[in-house]
Amino acid sequence: MPDVPRLRAALLHWYDQDARDLPWRTGPAARGVGARPDPYRVWLSEVMLQQTTVSHAAPYFLAFTRRWSTVGALAAVEEGELMAAWAGLGYYARARNLLRCARAVAGEHGGAFPDTEAGLAALPGVGPYTAAAVAAIAFDRPANVVDGNVERVMARLFAVETPLPAAKPELKRLAGTLVRDERPGDWAQALMDLGATICTPRNPACDRCPVRAFCAGVSSGAPQRFPRRTRKAPRPERRGIAYVLTRGGEVALVRRPGEGLLGGMLGLPTSEWTDVAASPPPRPAPGAWREAGEVAHVFTHFSLALRVLTSEGGDAQALAEDAIWTPAAQAAQALPTVFRKVLKAALASA
Ligand code: SF4
Repeated sequence: MPDVPRLRAALLHWYDQDARDLPWRTGPAARGVGARPDPYRVWLSEVMLQQTTVSHAAPYFLAFTRRWSTVGALAAVEEGELMAAWAGLGYYARARNLLRCARAVAGEHGGAFPDTEAGLAALPGVGPYTAAAVAAIAFDRPANVVDGNVERVMARLFAVETPLPAAKPELKRLAGTLVRDERPGDWAQALMDLGATICTPRNPACDRCPVRAFCAGVSSGAPQRFPRRTRKAPRPERRGIAYVLTRGGEVALVRRPGEGLLGGMLGLPTSEWTDVAASPPPRPAPGAWREAGEVAHVFTHFSLALRVLTSEGGDAQALAEDAIWTPAAQAAQALPTVFRKVLKAALASA
């Protein structure tokens, strides 16, 4: 077990000097003179950052907070408007949960987020990670904030041989041994910064690492060997057909069913997405179609190849009985990434 007080002092000292400047962050200098983070901004950033990089999430965060500067303002928005603003961030169930949570905070909690990990975890759509992160960062509660970055740092610091995912409870327990009542928000963010900038997945910069002296992984001579992983099953492949129907400068969009993948989002009409291994390729809908190439997209649980077919007017319009005709430029903004790719391929082939 490393000397925890010295390890903590080294990492917090590094954070005081080198903390990343992030749009949602109240940095250590500001905290030092009494500035407090806005829980709404902390919560919003944590939801956006799940499965999304900082550079991808930052413009969305800025746009959201310009448009809805408080949780009350966000709670009042129509779901369709929120989904359109979220388009491109992926994992769309998060956007619906965001709205449920905002409405609960604005309604049942009078506009103030609960200030404990348990209170936050009781909000709709707030999972254990987000509850811990908001409790630590916004309210300085000594919560154990463990995401994939922190798991990697722990696996290296302690040279954990158990492979992921079985190692998760052990990594969480080890992270918990380093949490103290002193500066919990800064501690959580210092670990996040270490994982994001120094102890990176492929090439950890151990020579610049503030906790190198305490790291069993670097002592082993091969820190990048950690975390160990169980070999994953290959990702299943699916295929389908996406239809781009145009009429003048407009494109036919459809609202996807509320539940399931990309639920409630705007999309383009498609065939069923069938399993490559088990099903024959889908047949195109009747109509006069032109081929516009193929688009690949990777979701968490499968990869998808979409054959793109386009039609300008004609009998294929029958496919778009429930269409929401939308100017092409506006459609590109409102669509999730997979459909943006399809629309781009179709327009490029025109
Ligand atoms: S010394 Fe290297 S492996 Fe260990 S925590 Fe630092 S960057 Fe990660």
